[in-house]
Amino acid sequence: MKDILKKPKYGAADLITLLWKASPLYAAIANIYPLLAALLPTVSLLATAAFIDAALAVVAGTRPPVAVAAPVAVLLAVTLHDYALRILLNLVSTKRAIFLHRTLRPALLKRVAELDYSHIEDQDTADLLSRVVPAFDTRVVECNQSVMSLASSAVSAAGIIVTITLSVWWAGLIIVAAAVPLMFIAKKAGENSYAARRETSKITRRAAYLSQVITDREAVEERTVFGYADALNERYYERSHAARKIQQRVTFMNFIKQKAGGVFGSVIAVGVMGSMLPPALDGSLDYGMFIALSGGILTLISQLSWGINSQVEEIAKQKEYLNDLTKFVGLSVSEDATALPKRGTELDKIDFEKIEFDNVSFSYPGTEKLVLDGASFTIERGRHYAFVGVNGAGKTTVTKLLTGLYTNYTGEIRVDGRELRDFSQSELKGLSACVFQDFARIGFSLYDNIAVGAYDADEAAVLAAAETAGLGETIAKLPGGIHTKLLKIYEGGADLSGGEWQRVAIARSLVNPAPLRILDEPTAALDPLSESRVYERFEEISKGRTTLFISHRLGSTKLADTIFVLSDGKITEQGGHAELMRQNGLYAEMFSSQAEWYTESQIL
Ligand code: ADP
Repeated sequence: MKDILKKPKYGAADLITLLWKASPLYAAIANIYPLLAALLPTVSLLATAAFIDAALAVVAGTRPPVAVAAPVAVLLAVTLHDYALRILLNLVSTKRAIFLHRTLRPALLKRVAELDYSHIEDQDTADLLSRVVPAFDTRVVECNQSVMSLASSAVSAAGIIVTITLSVWWAGLIIVAAAVPLMFIAKKAGENSYAARRETSKITRRAAYLSQVITDREAVEERTVFGYADALNERYYERSHAARKIQQRVTFMNFIKQKAGGVFGSVIAVGVMGSMLPPALDGSLDYGMFIALSGGILTLISQLSWGINSQVEEIAKQKEYLNDLTKFVGLSVSEDATALPKRGTELDKIDFEKIEFDNVSFSYPGTEKLVLDGASFTIERGRHYAFVGVNGAGKTTVTKLLTGLYTNYTGEIRVDGRELRDFSQSELKGLSACVFQDFARIGFSLYDNIAVGAYDADEAAVLAAAETAGLGETIAKLPGGIHTKLLKIYEGGADLSGGEWQRVAIARSLVNPAPLRILDEPTAALDPLSESRVYERFEEISKGRTTLFISHRLGSTKLADTIFVLSDGKITEQGGHAELMRQNGLYAEMFSSQAEWYTESQIL
């Protein structure tokens, strides 16, 4: 199933082939059957003609009443078929949806998980993913259906046109000639409609976001306190209104064009029907055939002028989806991105003596600014380090490079002499455990929130990590203990305070046996004192390991063996607390200005 995502470019042919690859059985049912069924209008037309002729002959007494039996049976069969098979097809499509969801989705999600990290932080990619991922399995079916419905229309129209041509050849010719401009108008209308939808989709996406902000639980506190719901409502209304106006304009223009096309079609239909009267009257065209063809012509004209419109729009929409899919599969991936370290193998090799940043410079993809500009420093095994610097100095960026999330730096990052870029994904995961600034709050149980830190941690290790991270009291007060579900997505799900979540994130890193522990500054939820306590605890429980913590608040930097001051993309000062205070540089200045945040007895 994975090779469905292997093509470098998705084009018109894939509208059909995607479903065949995903599920040949369901594709066969969905493709062959509608084409056969498309001939039924012709069968019905011929049966109607035969029925009328037979009925007239019965009335005239030239044929026995049983002559109508065969055409009636055919007409009945067509009607019953319509009914019974529609039910059957519905069943098949439900089964198909379940099958595709089960088979396609995991392949797609694996691909998303393997995406290079640089894409994840990119807004365009986020938009692309939101268009490609949720709809994937339904789109595979829709792509197929939109082509098949156009193909069925073509077959059914061809059937009727051939029947008309065989009966009155010039009537067929006139209809074919009239069909060309009608189809052209319908195609244009479909494309216009699609273009309008594309234009409005940008506006409606923003409107949908506003609506989410107005209704979500996430923003409820701010909404209540600042009372901004009305202002947002107003904006939401403006955006929805703008989208509606664009759509209305196109719908109106299309309506006018289609009506004009419809009138033109009707004139042609009436003309053709009128011209078939003389042969009907002189007996060269049976009455039955004349009446049935008249019905057929009307159906055909309306199908050409109305039906094709929406089918073309649908195909344009699906082709746009395939363009997005092409962009999605073009995003770079690391095939082994989801590989995990094997205990006792890579891990043993990864335990390092020193990590060196050698003249490292780095800009985020798509940006010019050098966040790191020739940064050099060394981290030695078993020691504790702190990175300090003003907001935006690049502290978090150092951890992103160190954990292998970005590889487009210049200079070298060496782990015992080996360039970090040469590390496999599983080796990188075995090297460091990181408590990120924006750590994840996952709607699992508290236990699972910790256990995700190490895929093979046993229960004792998870419980010990929770205890060490200081979650004992929290667990005691939760109704279901450590197995209580967190977040309100569950009925009775518990929520934790900012500080408690912080501990969960620390426990998550503690169950992970990686030799390097990184703690990025806790979110602003913590006041300076609590933050310092978190660092102290982190240091305490990381004895014997290499730790690296990041902060722009300096209450706890005294705990570190070495402090690196990051400024203008470089390490401008480094050393112990006392030494840096003596140097009287940026560190000393920052420390002095922040000293009042802490009380002597607790921190200094
Ligand atoms: P710090 O952790 O010291 O506060 P960061 O490492 O988070 O600083 O950020 C350093 C600089 O890089 C900032 O100017 C920030 O705006 C920029 N930056 C961070 N992440 C990205 C990103 N994904 N894309 C572009 N610029 C980024």
